[in-house]
Amino acid sequence: MGIETVAPWDAIVVGGGPGGSTAARRLARGGRRVLLLDAARFPRTKLCAGWVTPSVWRHVEFSPEDYPLTIQPFSRATVEIDGRVLETRWSDTVGWGIVRSEFDDFLLRRAREAGAEVREGTRVREVRREADAVSVDLDGDEIRAPLVIGAGGHHCPVARALGEIEDGETVVAALESETRIEPGRGTGHSSLEPGPELFFEPDLRGYGWRFVKGDRLNVGLGCTPGGVALRRRCDSMLDRLGREGRLPADVPLERMRGHAYAVRLSAPRLVAGPGFLLVGDAAGLARGLSGEGIGPAVESAAVAAGLLLDGGVGRDEVAARYRREIDRRFGTGRPGRLARALAKLPRPAIEGSTRWIVRSGWLRRKLILERLFGMRPRGES
Ligand SMILES: Cc1cc2nc3c(=O)[nH]c(=O)nc-3n(C[C@H](O)[C@H](O)[C@H](O)COP(=O)(O)OP(=O)(O)OC[C@H]3O[C@@H](n4cnc5c(N)ncnc54)[C@H](O)[C@@H]3O)c2cc1C
Repeated sequence: MGIETVAPWDAIVVGGGPGGSTAARRLARGGRRVLLLDAARFPRTKLCAGWVTPSVWRHVEFSPEDYPLTIQPFSRATVEIDGRVLETRWSDTVGWGIVRSEFDDFLLRRAREAGAEVREGTRVREVRREADAVSVDLDGDEIRAPLVIGAGGHHCPVARALGEIEDGETVVAALESETRIEPGRGTGHSSLEPGPELFFEPDLRGYGWRFVKGDRLNVGLGCTPGGVALRRRCDSMLDRLGREGRLPADVPLERMRGHAYAVRLSAPRLVAGPGFLLVGDAAGLARGLSGEGIGPAVESAAVAAGLLLDGGVGRDEVAARYRREIDRRFGTGRPGRLARALAKLPRPAIEGSTRWIVRSGWLRRKLILERLFGMRPRGES
């Protein structure tokens, strides 16, 4: 057991997903001494459909054209609702499919190359506030720094240390499977052109997807609690896709696995305190209705790093500025006047108007796909 009394680090980042690696890379490039700790060894599996929006590339400061690993640009998406397939097309690329194990490993490597010290296979057990530092417990070894960035996902120990997580937060539960297929084989009629296929659940509590990226087929379904159980929703989607020949007949799908994460829709998490900043899923920043989480993770990490590099203000002021900036970019997470009024409407009325929006080509593009799902041509995002 060792205790480091003099803090050799300006910041410790807990978690090396897209949020953690983006924060660490930006801080290291700005000359800060950064230690990043992740429980896993990379490349590690991360359950995710792997769809990324144009803003992701901006915040990780990398061009998709130069990305050397699996990448599938798309300029088309379909939404299926009540048995109807509704297609939307754009004249330019609005999103990309990537494989998370590759993408996260790539981002982490860039953080290391920028000068961050990365320790893989290192689980943080506990995080404690002290008078003017934060101490991080690694199975008995204690490390201190003036600041810790919590990027450890939904169960991040830094989020736990920062404060109670309210019971009322909205948690999306999802099941997902990613299977290697031969490109162009067994993938069904509607993937002749690339693009995500989204299957809205009849009660609109969630949606399923089928997404082909290079030689990977990703299928899954995520929903908020209530109504039919997630597993049943998923089984019935897979039955239907199988009957329609949209799953490979000759390759068994990888096992469906589950993960849950908070979205910024109700009871938002505390995102900062003196010496603490949370980014990505640790801060519950995934978008409420689409579940998009990679964009919010890298954007919040860029904001956190930018504030720390600005310097010149105390820890309380950094935390206050970060909270304000998160509210400005991602909303307060508390329902506003319009949302409160809409919530009083009977559920059939809400479902009816949502269906009407989804069926209208223009509203589906503008409100659902561009606004909620972030599928916007690069120049507009
Ligand atoms: C099934 C599913 C599909 C999804 N599809 C999409 C999608 O297509 N597009 C999209 O934008 N979002 C999607 N999301 C959401 C997205 O995956 C997350 O929002 C995103 O990964 C958040 O990134 P992050 O960096 O905050 O956390 P993570 O990517 O979760 O990274 C957290 C890291 O912290 C590490 N860690 C955790 N605990 C500790 C600890 N105690 N000590 C040290 N390290 C620790 C973990 O090993 C992990 O590497 C999906 C989510 C699910 C569940």
